Amino acid sequence: MENFIRSVARFIDNGFFKKRWGTHLDMNIRYFNIVVFLLSFSTALFSIFIGIHRKTYEVPLVLLIASVFFLLIYFLDNKTKRYNFYMILSTYAFNLVFLPVLYFVGGGIDYGTWLYFIAGLMLTVLFIHGPAFIVSIIIQPLYYFAIFLIHYFYPNFNPFGSSEAFNMNVFWSSPRNAVIINFAIISISIGMLIKSLFVSYIDEREAALLIVKDLEELSLKDPLTGTFNRRYLFKHLDESIKAAQNEHIPLSVVMYDIDNFKQLNDTYGHIVGDEVLCAVSKKLVENCREYDVVARYGGEEFLIVFPGAKDRVAYLRADKIRKDIESSQLSPSVKETITISGGLACYEPGLSASKLIDIADTNMYIAKEAGRNRIAWKNGALPPLKRQSDDDTDNSSKKYGRRETDNN
Ligand code: GH3
Ligand code: MG
Ligand code: MG
Repeated sequence: MENFIRSVARFIDNGFFKKRWGTHLDMNIRYFNIVVFLLSFSTALFSIFIGIHRKTYEVPLVLLIASVFFLLIYFLDNKTKRYNFYMILSTYAFNLVFLPVLYFVGGGIDYGTWLYFIAGLMLTVLFIHGPAFIVSIIIQPLYYFAIFLIHYFYPNFNPFGSSEAFNMNVFWSSPRNAVIINFAIISISIGMLIKSLFVSYIDEREAALLIVKDLEELSLKDPLTGTFNRRYLFKHLDESIKAAQNEHIPLSVVMYDIDNFKQLNDTYGHIVGDEVLCAVSKKLVENCREYDVVARYGGEEFLIVFPGAKDRVAYLRADKIRKDIESSQLSPSVKETITISGGLACYEPGLSASKLIDIADTNMYIAKEAGRNRIAWKNGALPPLKRQSDDDTDNSSKKYGRRETDNN
C-alpha cells in the first residue's frame, strides 16, 4: 500500500510537475492555446448564428480571426519549440485582444467586468515569467483601466458596432446561468493560482535543495581529489568510534602517504603531481567498500576509515590497496613506479579520533623509515613475513619483517 502511494506520488511528480519550469510550462502553453482556440471558435460559431439573426458580422469575424491565430500558434509552438516567445505572444493576444473583445460583446461595464480582469491576470501570473512578467503585470491593469475609462465617459462606444450582436443580457438575467458561470470562473481562477503557487514552490524547493547539496559537497569534500576533507573525516571518525564503542564493532584507520612525492613534483611538475594525486585517490576509492571512507588528510596524505575490520584483516586490506597502487600505471607521463606507505591503527576502547590518527601517522613514518612501499602497524611493528592462517588473530609479533611480496 505504501509502495503504491509512493509510486503514484512519483508518477504525479514526474508526469505533472516535471523537474523544470520549462517542461511544465511547455505542456501548459500548448493546452492553453488549444483550449483558447476551441473557446474562440465555438463562440465565433455561436455569434455567427446570432449575427446572421441580427445582421451584424464584426464579432464573429474577430472571434474567427482569434481562433485561427491561436490554432496557428498551437502548431508553430509544437514545431519550433520556442515556448517562451509563444507563451508571451499568446498570453498577450489573449489579454490585450481576445478578452477586451469578449468584454465589449459581453455587455461591457455592466456584466462581469471583474471576470475579464481576474482571468487575464491569472493567465499572466501562470504563463509569463522573468522581466516580461513585470512588464505585463503593469501594462495589463493600465490597459483595462483605459478601456473602462473609455467606456465610462463614452458609454455607447463599441468598436464592434453593436453589443446587441452578442447580447448577453438574456443569458445573464437568468440567475442560474450567472451562478454557474461565476462559480466556474472563480474555480478556474483559484485553481490556476493554487497551481502556479504550488509549481513555484516545488521549483524553489528543488533549487534550494540543489544549492544545499552543492554547499554540502563543497564543505565536506576536497576540491582536487573529490575525496572527503578533514572536517568530514573527524566528524565521521567520532561517530565511528562511538559505534565501535557502543556496539563493539572493530574499527581501523590507515594513513597513506605517497612515496618521494616531492621528487615526482620536481621532476614532472605540479600539474602531473596533481594528476597523480587524483589517480591515487581514485584507486583508494575503488578499493573501498560501501562503508569505508577515504579522506585527503594533507598534501599527499590520505586516510581511510575501515569499519568492521581490525588487526590482520585491516592490515591485509590496507596492504592490498598498497599493492594495487604499486602495480598500476597511474600517469602516462611518469616512468617510475608510484608507491605509497601506510600506517595502520586499530581502535581500542578509550582511544579518541585524534589519538587514533596519531598512531596511524606514527606507524606511517615507521613504514617510511623501514624502506617505504609497505604498511606498518601495532606500535610500529611490521607484520610477519609469511601470511599466517586467516583465523590467526594473534598479532603479538613485534619483529620488523618485510611484507610478504618482498621476498627477493
Ligand atoms: P616521502 O616518501 O618521505 O613522503 O617523501 P615526499 O617527497 O613525498 O615527502 P614530503 O612531505 O617532503 O613531500 C610532500 C610533497 O607533496 C611536497 C609538496 O610539494 C607536495 N604536495 C603537497 N600537496 C600537493 C598538491 O596538492 N599538489 C602537488 N602537485 N603536490 C603537492
Ligand atoms: Mg610523501
Ligand atoms: Mg607527506
